Amino acid sequence: MKLHEYQAKEYFARYGLPVQKGVVIERPEQVANLTLRYPVVVKAQVLVGGRGKAGGVKLAATPKEAEERARAILGMDIKGERVTRVLVVEAADIEKEYYLAFVTDRAAGRVAAIASAEGGVEIETVAHTAPEKIARAEADPFLGFPDFQARVVGRRLGFAGALLEEFVKIAATLYRLYWAEDADLAEINPLALVGGHLLCVDAKLVLDDNALYRHAGLPANEEMTELEAAAKKHGLSYVELDGDVAVIGNGAGLVMSTLDLLAHFGGRAANFLDVGGGASAEAMQTALGIVQRKPGVRAVFINIFGGITRCDDVARGIVENPPKVPASIRLTGTNEAEGQKILKDAGIAAGLDPDEGARVAVELARGGAKRGGR
Ligand code: GDP
Ligand code: MN
Repeated sequence: MKLHEYQAKEYFARYGLPVQKGVVIERPEQVANLTLRYPVVVKAQVLVGGRGKAGGVKLAATPKEAEERARAILGMDIKGERVTRVLVVEAADIEKEYYLAFVTDRAAGRVAAIASAEGGVEIETVAHTAPEKIARAEADPFLGFPDFQARVVGRRLGFAGALLEEFVKIAATLYRLYWAEDADLAEINPLALVGGHLLCVDAKLVLDDNALYRHAGLPANEEMTELEAAAKKHGLSYVELDGDVAVIGNGAGLVMSTLDLLAHFGGRAANFLDVGGGASAEAMQTALGIVQRKPGVRAVFINIFGGITRCDDVARGIVENPPKVPASIRLTGTNEAEGQKILKDAGIAAGLDPDEGARVAVELARGGAKRGGR
């Protein structure tokens, strides 16, 4: 789960990492109430990276200018993400930018420290253009990240004396945060030299989804789209794609092959929802509601192979909440005859063959075939 910069900085501050004084606001008029020292930097809070380059990080010399900047940035679309909050921080006079992160290195089976004296740019770029400028060290899971390791990394970055000790303390603290909060990534880019001291000018924190249950009081997960969140609330797994055929199936394998079938017939799924094994009529009803809410859906393909899931339950769900866009339904397996009858009595056509179902769904999305593929 990705956190916003301001949320990550709350963790940073709690652990004692140096951050700028700042406030998050949602409306430009709120700038007037801020008691910050000017100039300030107005920063879009989005979960995607590279905000600076996208125009989401702006310096402002006066409150009037800050309000203008906030007005321009709020509502902005940054790589498909709408800005609803900006973080306003006291601007730092940066002398040099470094990079420091802890990341789960799956290949090594370790937590790795990655650092560079080339900060402020994406580390992937540095890795590409000047890999020799990246220092790397692995933490032993039992020993953690001892100061001597941080010192080796710090020296490689060119630190010495008091500044080296400052770097060591920041690295140790960042590792402590990473470990205690079950992070997957904790990144400071840039870690800036300001007035002879190090300052965390940007903060990125990604928490391990598998460990979220171990932490109380987490901020809301904003990575999910509204529909993903709605599905999750009902215990359904839903994934957004970018075609125009909404897909409902039972079981991950069937759903995957359904996507392949659609592709085979030249169609593209808008999303897919796996109602899982033993889906109830209610689950089916909810599923239909969710997949069709996605803009751009032109047809629905319901592909059910009844096992534990019973076709009559599925059919009841469909009848309770009939598709609002043209639908192709394939319903076979346990209680198939009952299910088919329920649909037929409600005037809804359904077939038994998945290939035929997919072909019809693609045609329906193109506006070709008649509804239901009878
Ligand atoms: P990102 O683009 O999403 O990585 O956002 P950052 O917070 O890292 O900001 C991008 C860049 O803007 C940084 O690398 C800095 O060069 C610059 N920047 C951000 N905050 C400040 C600041 O307080 N003072 C100065 N001088 N530059 C800043
Ligand atoms: Mn950054």
